Amino acid sequence: MRYAIFSDVHSNLEALEAVMDSYKKEGIDKYLCIGDLIGYGANPRECIEKVRSIASVVCAGNHDWAAVRLFSLEYFNSDARSAILWTRHLLSQGHQGFLESLKLTFKNEDLILVHGTLNNPHEFNYLSDAYIAEETFRLMDRNVCFVGHTHQPQIFSKDQNERIYAHKEAAVTLSNANKYIVNVGSVGQPRDGDPHASYCIYDSKEREIQIKRVKYNAEAARKKIIEKGLPKFLGDRLIAGR
Ligand code: ZN
Repeated sequence: MRYAIFSDVHSNLEALEAVMDSYKKEGIDKYLCIGDLIGYGANPRECIEKVRSIASVVCAGNHDWAAVRLFSLEYFNSDARSAILWTRHLLSQGHQGFLESLKLTFKNEDLILVHGTLNNPHEFNYLSDAYIAEETFRLMDRNVCFVGHTHQPQIFSKDQNERIYAHKEAAVTLSNANKYIVNVGSVGQPRDGDPHASYCIYDSKEREIQIKRVKYNAEAARKKIIEKGLPKFLGDRLIAGR
């Protein structure tokens, strides 16, 4: 099975379309989304509809749940909060019902998905280093778990001696002896200093995972954010990738 796994679209339609175009060349069997379809960007409805039409599984992100009042706005900074409030007014009952239906985790024979961490997934903690990864590794009953939320692509592995590595490379071939956590990065608001949209491919037969980047029209996405009256910083950071 060749899986397309992506996260943190954040209402950025330009980035989502560029990622979907890239996936077309990859012979994908199944699309999986790890949450945060909305928030920050200018096209929440279009992004929900597109992801919904493509992905067989969509997990909940903190912005998705906050938009439908399942997660408190007090956990967000003021720019994020204004974007969520702006987004709420645009959502139809259908969009709201869809966001409300999203589950925190997903598991099949090949993988686990969660937006933040497997321990207390409803708290949406950031899996940002090897130390925090430990608890999620401990709870894994599959070889590999895919996460998002930090907007920083990263592969972690844990070997038989319980040592955890933060890999520098963006691709790995899985060894049965190890466990892996893969942060797939963000489609719509990368924060690792590279403004290109981030997306992941997992080939469960070949045992290969790759995190890829694609250029998209970030200036158009930035312009729309400013035109809609959303905080200017949310547009500017797309150009910087931070
Ligand atoms: Zn996010």
